[in-house]
Amino acid sequence: MKEKIFSENFNLSSYTTIKVGGIAEYFAEPRNIAEFSYLIKWANLNKRKCQIIGAGSNLLINNIFIKGLVICTKKMKSLKIDPCSGIVEAEAGVMLPTLSNALAKNGLQGGEWAVGIPGTLGGAIYMNAGTGNLSLSKNLISVQVINNKTHEKLDIERKDLNFEYRSSSFQSNNLVIISAKLNFEPNGNLETLIRTTKNNLKIKKETQPYHLPSFGSVFKNPKNNYAAKLIDDLGLKGFKVGGAEISTMHSNFIINSSAASSKDIYELITVIQQKVQQNKGIYLQPEVRMLGFDYPN
Ligand SMILES: Cc1cc2nc3c(=O)[nH]c(=O)nc-3n(C[C@H](O)[C@H](O)[C@H](O)COP(=O)(O)OP(=O)(O)OC[C@H]3O[C@@H](n4cnc5c(N)ncnc54)[C@H](O)[C@@H]3O)c2cc1C
Repeated sequence: MKEKIFSENFNLSSYTTIKVGGIAEYFAEPRNIAEFSYLIKWANLNKRKCQIIGAGSNLLINNIFIKGLVICTKKMKSLKIDPCSGIVEAEAGVMLPTLSNALAKNGLQGGEWAVGIPGTLGGAIYMNAGTGNLSLSKNLISVQVINNKTHEKLDIERKDLNFEYRSSSFQSNNLVIISAKLNFEPNGNLETLIRTTKNNLKIKKETQPYHLPSFGSVFKNPKNNYAAKLIDDLGLKGFKVGGAEISTMHSNFIINSSAASSKDIYELITVIQQKVQQNKGIYLQPEVRMLGFDYPN
C-alpha cells in the first residue's frame, strides 16, 4: 500500500456530534480491513499513539494538538444480512440507524430500538450502547478485532467481552473492533417492524434534543437512580458554562449552544458532578469518553 492514506494536522471538530475537537497530528478513514490493519501497523512501527473513533457521538475531544494517529471507522460500512437465518455480518463503521432500518426491511426483529442512536457498530459494542433493558450485546455472536500492539487479528465470542451497563472489556484492553457477527430473530412482520422502528425514532426526537449538537447522555445512571432526575432536581436545566448548556429538554444532555469549547463542556461536566455530589451525595460517572484529556476514562 504505497499511496498516502492519512492527512496531517486534521481538524476533528466536524467528526464529533457535539462539534468540538482538536487537531490530530495524523488522521485516516480506512475504507476496508486491509487499510485499517495497515494504519494500525504504521502507527506501531512509527511509535505513534493510535486512537479510534466511530461517529464521535459519545466523545469529547480536547481542543488541543492530539499527537499520533486518529482513525475514524465511518467508511468501513459493509453490511451483510441473511434474512433466513437472521445472521448479520457488519463492519465497525456501519451506523446503527442504517443497521436498524435494514433489519426491519429484512423482517429481522430485535434491532428496532437502535434506530435513534447516531453511532457506529464499533462504538456501540465498545460502549455497550442500549436503551432500557435492551443493548446490542444481546444480539452479538462474536467480534473480529485487531490487537493494537501485536497486530494480531482474532475473533472473540460475546461471553468473553464482559458486557455490563455501558461497559465492555474494550474499555480496558488494546483491541480495535473491525467487524461483528450478530443474530436477530427472522420472519418478523415487515409492516410492524418498520412502523415500530419509525416510531422509536419519533419518540427519541420528541424526548431528546436530537438535532442539536450533543453527545447523548453525559452521565451513566447511578444504581436505582437517574442522572437526569438528579440534575433536574437541582434546577440545573438551561445552566451554562460558556457555550455549553444543560439541555432544557433532557437534563442529562449537554448541548453546544453557541461555539462551546472543549474547556466549557469539561467545566460544565465538573460543575454538575460537584453540585450533585454536594447536594445528593452521589458521584455521577461520565458515560461520555474523553480523548486528549487526563481524565481517567
Ligand atoms: C442524540 C444522541 C442520542 C444518543 N442516544 C443513545 C442511547 O439511546 N443509548 C446509548 O447507549 N447511547 C446513546 N448515545 C451515545 C452514542 O451514540 C453511543 O454511545 C454510540 O454507541 C457511540 O458510537 P460512536 O461510533 O459514535 O463512538 P465514538 O463516540 O466515536 O467513540 C466512543 C468510544 O468508542 C471507541 N470506539 C469507537 N469505535 C471503535 C472501534 N471500532 N474499536 C475500538 N474502539 C472504538 C472510541 O475510542 C471511544 O472511546 C446518543 C448520542 C447522541 C448524540
